[in-house]
Amino acid sequence: MRKRLIVSAASALSLFLAVPASATDFQPGAAGIGDPYYPTYGNGGYRVSHYDIRLKYQPATDELEGTTTILATATQDLSRFDLDFALNVSEVRVNGRPATFATSGEQELEITPARPLAKGSQVTVVVRYKGVPSTVKKYGFTAWHRTPDGAVAADEPEAAWWWFPSNDHPSNKATFDVSVQVPDGNQVISNGVLTGTSSQAGWTRYSWRENKPQATYLTTLAVGKFDITTDTTASGLPVYNAYSKDLGDNADAARASVERTGELVDWLSGYFGDYPFSSVGGYVPNVPTGYALETQTRVFYSPKQFAKGTNTSVVVHELAHQWYGDSVSLSRWSDIWLNEGFARYAQLLWSEHENEGTAQEVADYIYASHPADDAFWTVKPGDPGPANQFSSAVYDRGAVAIQALRNTIGDEKFFRILKGWPTERKYGNATIAEFQAYAEKVSGQKLGDLFKTWLFTPAKPAVGPVVPGAAATLAPGARADAARDDVTALVEPKSWKQIQETNSVHDGLR
Ligand SMILES: [Zn+2]
Repeated sequence: MRKRLIVSAASALSLFLAVPASATDFQPGAAGIGDPYYPTYGNGGYRVSHYDIRLKYQPATDELEGTTTILATATQDLSRFDLDFALNVSEVRVNGRPATFATSGEQELEITPARPLAKGSQVTVVVRYKGVPSTVKKYGFTAWHRTPDGAVAADEPEAAWWWFPSNDHPSNKATFDVSVQVPDGNQVISNGVLTGTSSQAGWTRYSWRENKPQATYLTTLAVGKFDITTDTTASGLPVYNAYSKDLGDNADAARASVERTGELVDWLSGYFGDYPFSSVGGYVPNVPTGYALETQTRVFYSPKQFAKGTNTSVVVHELAHQWYGDSVSLSRWSDIWLNEGFARYAQLLWSEHENEGTAQEVADYIYASHPADDAFWTVKPGDPGPANQFSSAVYDRGAVAIQALRNTIGDEKFFRILKGWPTERKYGNATIAEFQAYAEKVSGQKLGDLFKTWLFTPAKPAVGPVVPGAAATLAPGARADAARDDVTALVEPKSWKQIQETNSVHDGLR
């Protein structure tokens, strides 16, 4: 806002503001936002509040071109700042004036505005670019997946670099307008609500809007030929699902799963509170990948998730992320348990609902089926390290940790936390330490030992996720055996194979 005043009024005051007392006060913003796992991801010195992404895409050649307009606020006096981006840039403007730019590292776009940016000032950045994203490799890979009829951008923790410049870290969420022009006959899928389409000279433009804060990696784009279904849930929420027309043998199982999105989001609301966004749905493009991703309001599913038939468990997992991961996002990537532990736990609740094993039985089974010398226990779900960020331990041990919490504080307080946390922290960011503090506040119990044992110790906990004192009173059976590490006495829950197979959710990310 201050910059606008300076531009419009050539008063003595504005001139004073425009010229820094000392140019040395203005420093370059940091090349990373400060995440220990990914030191160059995100950037320092500013925060983005909105992205306007306006593109043209040709599926036949994979040529992508367009302009992204970024609204930001400087958080320090800036002589220069970075965006994260991988395509070729032809022009950058900052507050309307041409800016100089250069690239460095794998994905840094260094921008030097014509005039330095004062702390607190509002900044508009326009980046014009083009490229063939499938050919652009960063850290040896591209997150841009071509399909027989188009392309998809959906990956974690990095997906944005191949289609829009950004402050690429979940701790800087923003609202989004995504508008993409494709040849007539193709469709564009993105997050939120389709606000309009228009056709001209053989091209059709699809405009999407997500009006709630969204992390860059949860922003998705798909171009292709889709069968679309639209509806509203029993609670009135718009549903928009899309399926590639060429899913072959997986088409029916995909639809029989994803078409239950409305039912499942209403079911999850009973545990997590009101759904936080203004639309919901999923899409299944014809990609060769194996994973699914909780892209905000519009979940990405690989067809392989449905290769063995319907899979409501994966739909539950990705929809649970809309509360745990999307609305309440991690502050640093080391907080990944706040996403994956809870999404996996939702699958345990669904298993119980479907009479395929109670949450306790699945948790017991996970505990007992990994002997103490299994490398599984060496991963700390609360700080797994970047190499193990999507290890099965983050999911499975992470879910057992949640069952252990439930048994420690009792169902009444546990379910109050499960619903209260995403309500209290809606649209924000959080750390595991903050979750622990919240759980201690609601339960009135000190939980430091519990969190340390289950999330921050690289060894198998001596006692399984049992109700304190309950094991001793049980006749010899599954739960006591679980605590004793005797897997042969445990019956594999009916849901287990499908739950375990969602571990491929993040396989092939690189
Ligand atoms: Zn997940």
